Amino acid sequence: MAEIKLKNICKTYPNGVAAVDHFNLDIHDKEFLIFVGPSGCGKSTTLRMIAGLEDITSGELEIDGEIVNEMAARDRDIAMVFQSYALYPHMNVYDNIAFGLRRRKLSKDEVDKKVKEAARILGLESQLKKKPRELSGGQKQRVAMGAAIVRNPKVFLMDEPLSNLDAKLRVQMRLEIAQLHERLGATIIYVTHDQTEAMTLGTRIVVMKDGVIQQVDTPKNLYENPANMFVAGFIGSPQMNFMEVTVKEEGNEVSIQLGKKTIRLPEDKKRSLRGYDGKKVVFGIRPEDIKDSEIFINTFPQWEIDARVQVYELLGAEALLYFEYEGNKITASVHPRTHIREGQDVSLILDMEKAYFFDPDTGRAIIPQKGDVK
Ligand code: ADP
Repeated sequence: MAEIKLKNICKTYPNGVAAVDHFNLDIHDKEFLIFVGPSGCGKSTTLRMIAGLEDITSGELEIDGEIVNEMAARDRDIAMVFQSYALYPHMNVYDNIAFGLRRRKLSKDEVDKKVKEAARILGLESQLKKKPRELSGGQKQRVAMGAAIVRNPKVFLMDEPLSNLDAKLRVQMRLEIAQLHERLGATIIYVTHDQTEAMTLGTRIVVMKDGVIQQVDTPKNLYENPANMFVAGFIGSPQMNFMEVTVKEEGNEVSIQLGKKTIRLPEDKKRSLRGYDGKKVVFGIRPEDIKDSEIFINTFPQWEIDARVQVYELLGAEALLYFEYEGNKITASVHPRTHIREGQDVSLILDMEKAYFFDPDTGRAIIPQKGDVK
């Protein structure tokens, strides 16, 4: 069992930096929770406070119902895996994994059993006699995980554990960590600045900015229902396009004015913008919701825009088109077999069923009002 509650946690460093601001969160038993956000947003500080490596300025930290603000790190039954592997260079893999156990004065047989079990889970059985310098980055990271696993802690804290690995290995290790979570049935709190890593690993994601939680949600909900422009822009790659528009209401119709272009909204989206007549809002659309296919052009001619493609980039599974529209820089992600190339004048469709709207002052998402729209 490991339930962790953070209640109004604040952290101000002695130099006056307010790193974490009124952080409220309940972390459930066996959850794989991710803290994600740009560098400096307070992820590591929060993790280190949970670990007991950093004092809490104000607020309460509860583990399994007990307030642990003053409890020493070693008494919290938490294991931490860092981005640097922190292995002892003169010890072999076996001894590195066994080190923490030996300090606990377990019998030799018990230590042996636990080390071999961890090595089996992590695929390190053939590496046990090697020294860290003989291992690849991925293997070193696995040894560091092994040292954490054998302690059988209540909670694993992982601070960017994969950021020193090359891209291919990172993807492989990501999969291994996800499997590890299933096998161990442990609570994991994982810090990353990489939204792809967050989206693929987490059961829930905490998006942070400037020490403040922006949204806590499942990967799917963060993507589909971002609470504000920051989350909308941070989750998803390439990032959502944003354009300032003016809302127009005429009888039953609601449309947005984007430069010279008037775009009528579908029923569902009208509900978001009723009552906004004459107001400016931010219109957001993801690159993959800008379409170049005939079928869209024929079905939704009212959402057509004309553009000159400035840059074409083939990424393999998708092709990116960069262009300017009514003074906005836009990215579209289309099928890689598109015939569109750089310099061409093209027609594209904005799939307005997938449009997002935000308040330009607060950045908050404008969500559909309940009830029917006449
Ligand atoms: P992240 O993990 O999201 O990159 P951190 O938690 O490391 O962010 O840092 C949050 C803020 O606190 C940053 O502005 C950082 O410069 C500051 N900070 C981190 N550690 C210290 C420290 N020991 N002393 C002073 N300021 C710090």
